[in-house]
Amino acid sequence: MIDSILSIDGLTVEFRLGRNRVVHAVNGVSLELRPGSTLGVIGESGSGKSTLARAIMGLAPVTSGTIAVDGTPIADMSRQARRTLRRTVQMIFQDPTEALDPRLTVAESIAEPLIVNKIVSRRDARRKVPELLDRVGLSERQGGQRPRDLSGGQKQRVNIARALALEPKVLICDEAVSALDVSIQADVLNLLMDLQEDTDIAYLFISHDIGVVSRMCDEIGVMYLGEMVESGTAQQVTEQPRHPYTEALLSAEPMPVPSSMRVERRIVLEGELPSPLSPPSGCKFRTRCRYAAESCKEVPTPSFAGPSAHMALCHFADELNLTTGRVSIASDRI
Ligand code: SF4
Repeated sequence: MIDSILSIDGLTVEFRLGRNRVVHAVNGVSLELRPGSTLGVIGESGSGKSTLARAIMGLAPVTSGTIAVDGTPIADMSRQARRTLRRTVQMIFQDPTEALDPRLTVAESIAEPLIVNKIVSRRDARRKVPELLDRVGLSERQGGQRPRDLSGGQKQRVNIARALALEPKVLICDEAVSALDVSIQADVLNLLMDLQEDTDIAYLFISHDIGVVSRMCDEIGVMYLGEMVESGTAQQVTEQPRHPYTEALLSAEPMPVPSSMRVERRIVLEGELPSPLSPPSGCKFRTRCRYAAESCKEVPTPSFAGPSAHMALCHFADELNLTTGRVSIASDRI
């Protein structure tokens, strides 16, 4: 069995607002990410998926649980090891413009992480830039341009090149293609898949778009109100969902056929996502679940047994006959 490059066990992130108010942003999440694989995390805005990513990067406080990289818990690492960790795990964000310094040329932006992290000399950093430009499909001429001269997709390629410069083993993509046009999204996703074939890099792919995630990922975790409510292989989660929330997300995925020809109807989730300041008792999804029973109010859902099997945080996961997902698992191209 291949060891995980990123292993998260029971991760909880809470933010205190005053004396008695606590935001439960991430609650007991566990996951494993293997080298060369892609794990998708999906959920609505406010589900906790971005906070999960930020906690991995050390940008959100961990209340409890462990995050281990290459077998070593971050909490046990020396200062030097944590510095190296920053290179091992890189992140690209939703807004490709915000992540780039408008004053720097593309080449300077790509060389910057190499220089700042003192990996190579300034001169060697500049020598490495053409190779990185080539890997992300940009020309040397574009290396002389500034962010304002580039399209959104080209800017995101620059951000990917900046991340790759540090030769990471894990790349966290936080809604990395959400701001791009659909055709440009496909280009960037195909680039990420090509790079994975070449480098064995692992991706933690965070998105609200289950269609993109299902085509891109080997495994999927579904988050709702800070909890991982379902996880399994992409095929299991999309073709045999076991949690009513996953079923609703799948039903919202557009199909390339007229609505009159669709077999299933879209499941509209009633109401807003409850506040993480005061989540519902029992099952957190019960206020929006069309299968909720009286007992769902009282009895908390069982704790997640682990990320390897097809798990669902629902009392009736084995009894419900949920609508099969409409999303087909992709081939090797979007
Ligand atoms: Fe719905 Fe009850 Fe299952 Fe929660 S435990 S998802 S409320 S059926």
